[in-house]
Amino acid sequence: MNTQEKYRKYVNTACVKAVEPIVIAQAKGARVIDESGRSYTDLFAGISVVNAGHCNPEVLAAAKAQMERLVHACAYVYHIPAVANLAEMLAQITPGRLQKSFFGSGGAEANEGGMRLAKQFTRKQEFISLQGCFHGRSVGTLSLTGNCGRKRGGGPFLPGCAYHPAPSCYRCPYAKTYPGCDLHCAKELERTIQFNTADNVAAFIAEPVMGEGGIIVPPPEYFREIKRVLDRHGILLFVDEVQSGFGRTGKLFAIEHYQVEPDILTMAKGIADGFPLSAVIAREEIADAFRPGDHLSTFGGNPVSCAAALANIAFFERERLCDQSAAKGATLMTALKELQRSRPLIGDVRGLGLMVGVELVRDGQKTPASEAAEKVKALMRERGFLIGLGGTYGNVLRIQPPLVIEAGDLQLAVGALAECLDKA
Ligand code: PMP
Repeated sequence: MNTQEKYRKYVNTACVKAVEPIVIAQAKGARVIDESGRSYTDLFAGISVVNAGHCNPEVLAAAKAQMERLVHACAYVYHIPAVANLAEMLAQITPGRLQKSFFGSGGAEANEGGMRLAKQFTRKQEFISLQGCFHGRSVGTLSLTGNCGRKRGGGPFLPGCAYHPAPSCYRCPYAKTYPGCDLHCAKELERTIQFNTADNVAAFIAEPVMGEGGIIVPPPEYFREIKRVLDRHGILLFVDEVQSGFGRTGKLFAIEHYQVEPDILTMAKGIADGFPLSAVIAREEIADAFRPGDHLSTFGGNPVSCAAALANIAFFERERLCDQSAAKGATLMTALKELQRSRPLIGDVRGLGLMVGVELVRDGQKTPASEAAEKVKALMRERGFLIGLGGTYGNVLRIQPPLVIEAGDLQLAVGALAECLDKA
């Protein structure tokens, strides 16, 4: 049996529409090589993970060196240098007074930890999240996830979750236009608290830039307006940077674009360039709301992953990867907006840094062109470019490559996209 046959027989892929019909043999930088030796330009980075490039030699060297010394002992039973060093580093590179990290293995786990912290610190039980958001696949995080497409058949979910309309300017839930809207979607949070909660809200959780929801970039003043409402009610600001973190948007963390200080921040995906690791970081007094027995993770803070993360962060700083993301992203957005002028299938181009979405629509009515998006993704793959899809209707092309991608590769990708749009 070959790999694809074994997948069909033994890997449970019933949870996805289809696994892409390529068998990846190896990858380097922004290049993926399949079994037959064919090379692809990776514009999705394993769902926005390998930001410093596939098999980054410096990250691999640090991981290998750690592997020779210690693979596992459990970060919550013994003191481990790589864990301590990474926690110190995260306190330095995250915004504001965020200081103490709890380490896990994946994004959902980090968000569960953040929920628990928020509840224990505030002694309140409810949460508010955004419609169309995505926070993970555990029952707690799926309860926060405001999208029936992910939740159907999975209930019952946690009570005490309210969903606030998202800051989606292209499909404004209040049919307004920025900036004339006066940030209505942020100010309306007051009414969500008043009418959809028992005013017992521990935290408002949001992705600073929504990923799975279709690359939704809030207006620049959005989180400051949100924070004003939260402060009136003593509600924590909890930002999920699982996808938007680690340079994806041109800053190390996307919330840095918005001049507010989060109380809790979660990260995963890009933290260790592909090694499984996540963290929830909080101000000291919030982190200290845990009492003995409240929380643990056997694999959380795995030393090999922590060593990889430290090398990853050093690589980011030396190579100024955030600046690279901002500059390459700006050029890409300009090219895509130019393409939009001659391609009516493109309804919207939006993004920050190298977190870019191209929303496909038809009938001149913003009708989601979901089938066309599937087709474009397949045609791009045939031409040697791997992209992702997202959005509530699956009609948003997601371009989230390794940040080390060559500018020339992005230019070629836009050229290929033009051809694929014409064919679709
Ligand atoms: N939060 C966000 C914003 C995400 O994009 C994701 C994954 N796409 C998650 C949480 C869940 O992460 P994981 O799959 O590692 O549990």
